[in-house]
Parts: sequence; structure tokens; C-alpha cells
Amino acid sequence: MGVISSRGRKHIDGQKHLTASNEIINITNKDVIGKIYIPIVGPNGADMEVLVNDGDQVKVGTKLAIRKDFGIPEYSPVSGKVIGKENRYHCSIGRPVQHLVIENDFKDEKTKNPSMIVPLEASRQEIIDAIKEAGIVGLGGAGFPTYVKYNGVEGIETILINGIECEPYLTTDYRIMKDKCELMLLGIQYLIKAANAQTAVIAIKKGKKELKEKIEEVLAKYPNVSLREVSDVYPMGWERTLIHEVFKKDYDRLPAEIGVIVNNAQTAISVADALINGNPITHRCITVSGDAIARPANVIVPVGTVAGLIIKELGGYTKEDVNVLAGGPMTSKGLMNDTFAITYCTGGITVMERRYYKTEPCLRCGSCIKHCPASIQPVNIMNAVKAKDNKRLEELETNRCIECGLCSFVCPSKIEVTDFVKKGKLQLKIAAMKKNIKK
Ligand code: SF4
Ligand code: SF4
Repeated sequence: MGVISSRGRKHIDGQKHLTASNEIINITNKDVIGKIYIPIVGPNGADMEVLVNDGDQVKVGTKLAIRKDFGIPEYSPVSGKVIGKENRYHCSIGRPVQHLVIENDFKDEKTKNPSMIVPLEASRQEIIDAIKEAGIVGLGGAGFPTYVKYNGVEGIETILINGIECEPYLTTDYRIMKDKCELMLLGIQYLIKAANAQTAVIAIKKGKKELKEKIEEVLAKYPNVSLREVSDVYPMGWERTLIHEVFKKDYDRLPAEIGVIVNNAQTAISVADALINGNPITHRCITVSGDAIARPANVIVPVGTVAGLIIKELGGYTKEDVNVLAGGPMTSKGLMNDTFAITYCTGGITVMERRYYKTEPCLRCGSCIKHCPASIQPVNIMNAVKAKDNKRLEELETNRCIECGLCSFVCPSKIEVTDFVKKGKLQLKIAAMKKNIKK
């Protein structure tokens, strides 16, 4: 099914200059990372089996829990003591969930897991198993377990490394790719082997001169990897748009259908760090930016650090009335407060001054349709939602929406069209659940 068209793209002022060229700050302040909060549900709400008890001593790398759906472990980001559980808002699940609370003793004692370290000469399955054991998940946002993309998949020719980071304000991938370019290329070699593929392509946006030069310098040693620059339009980082741009191909359900597996650039780095150095993901580099934070920066913090404390460390808010977003401004919803802990999937925190717009009636201008990258009809979906017409929502293929936010962004009447489309998806989900219950 061909669902991509070149119409659904728009250049957006990325405001990347706020953080792109600054040094990454390693946050070590004891007031910020003194207590760490690890959710004991997966990013999709999946249950976890908890492996530690209150009072247990842990080290950096102690296995804390295992996700029951995919069997991947979660490791302690700090050394210290488990002091209990606490209900805390989870930014991607959108409700409070139980978190393990770990008191950091700042001794930074580490434990290594030998089954996670494998040489590049290991078998394909040994590499996939090690990626699973390291708990590597897609660091581009969704937190999907990386090993699942590789396990038992045949016919893969190319690994596509997504270094696009198309959300405004976020520059984490850019900075980390530049700083850890060699490690990224090593991780890519493991991914090529895990897929039994021949080549890899690293995709970055046009205009990233320094990053391009850095990658080209390292690429000289890796003839099976090439660099591809793509247009600076939104949402180029979406898997389907990127694949279409690079390979001029569409697919139905998964990129594997056309011989491609896509991984985020930071995921490739994490693979190398785990399989070579024995380090599971315990820390995250995140961009903290926006128009209402004192000192925008890229920071490294242990996973589980509270967002509000990171913001305070960077000088706090510069406006009274702000929107705190877990991620970039196009796809993230404003949160109730800043008490959430950052997770493996949090790519950034954007702090924006809250603006109140007067919504005008729809002009029937068609701009939302013209820009939709999924080639669906946001305005007509909105009308079907208002009419509670589920049949029409199905006809309009509402579920193909990727929640990119572009229809709201381009609407001259300031209508939150994306919210209506999301509501349409929810309406269809509830209807399907009711139908299943009746069966
Ligand atoms: S949010 Fe959904 S409907 Fe709106 S432009 Fe993006 S993909 Fe299309
Ligand atoms: S962009 Fe806004 S005003 Fe134009 S058709 Fe879509 S909803 Fe209506």
C-alpha cells in the first residue's frame, strides 16, 4: 500500500541553535540525582516482574525488573538502596504508575553482566540475545525492544540509521552522534550482523556540516556503511517518510517487507556500549530547551531523574505560565506538572510559554489535508468525530494517523485538529473493544 506522498512535509524552524553547539552537561548535583524513580511498567503499560525488594543494595547495572511482554530487563542507573515504591505520573503512559525509588549513594559502584558482552565474531543469534539481555530499546521515543526487530527476520539487506531528529528544539541525537561517532559505527556493525544484512545507511538532515564531516571521517574505515543527507522537512524522522526518501519505496506493515530495518542513531550507540563495554542503558542524554527555560542545554542524567529538578538545575522557568512537554513540541502533550521521571524513551523536555489562541471556524482551506504525511484527511476526520460517526472514521483510515501534529500546526484557524484525530482513534479503539466483549 503506497501511503506516502511528497506533499505531507513542511520545513519548520527547529530552534536547534539553542543547544546544538553547546557542550553536554553531566549533571552530578546530589540534590538532582539523590533519588531515582524507575517505573515498574513498560512504556506501553506492560507489567514487569520486579527482582529487588525494599532495603536491597543495588549497583549500577543491577537487574531491577523484567518486562513481562518482551522479557527485556531494566537495570539500575545508580548504586545505592531500594527504599520503596511510589506512585508517580508517567509521561508516556499519561497516568500515575508505581515506580521503584532508589536512594543514590554516589559511590557509583558497577556490576557487569558477562552475558551482555559478545565479540563481533559471535553468531547472529548470540548478538540478538545479547541485545535483548542488555535491555536495548528504541531510543527514538517509542521504546520498542530492539531485538524483536531482528529475531528470526530474514531477507534484510540494509540497516537504516535514523539520525534525523525532526522535532523542533531537540538536538540530543545530533550531539551524541557527533561525540560518539566511532561507537555508533561499531554498533552499526553489530546491527548489520544481527540482521544478516550487507550494508547500512546513516541518514541525517541536510545542512549539518560538522556532523557530516565527522561521520565521513569515521566512515573511511567502514566501507559497508554510507551517509545520506535528506531534506530538512517535518516529519522526515518518521520511518515511512524516511524510507521513502532514501529508498523510494513504500511498505505495508513493516520496513522488513522491503529488506530494511530502521534503528535510531542512539540505539546503535547503546548496542555498542552494551556488547563491547558491558554497559546497559543507565543514563540518557536529553535536550532541555524551549522558550521558557533559563539555560537550554543537552544534559546527561541517570534514567529516573525527576524532570523538574533538571529544569531547576538549568536555572528554572523564565515565564510564569508554562507548558512542560516530555519530548518535542510537535508530538508531545503538555503535562500537568514537572514531577515525572525521565525514562529510557524521553528524548527531551521542552518548556514553552503557554499561549492562548482564539479558535476560528474551519475555513475549509484544505491545508491540513495537503500537509498530512499519512495522506489522510484530518478535517474530515474531525467532522466525523464531532458527528460520532465511527463508520466514516474507518472509511477515512483514521488509524493511519501517526500523531505528528502537523495538521494543528498548519491550521490557520488554530484548531487543534490533531486532538480530534487522536480522539477519533480512541473512539475506534473503544468501539473495537466493545465488539470483542460482545463476542
Ligand atoms: S497528526 Fe495525523 S492526521 Fe494530523 S497531519 Fe499528522 S498524521 Fe495527519
Ligand atoms: S487546516 Fe484548519 S481551517 Fe483548513 S481545512 Fe483543515 S481544519 Fe479547516
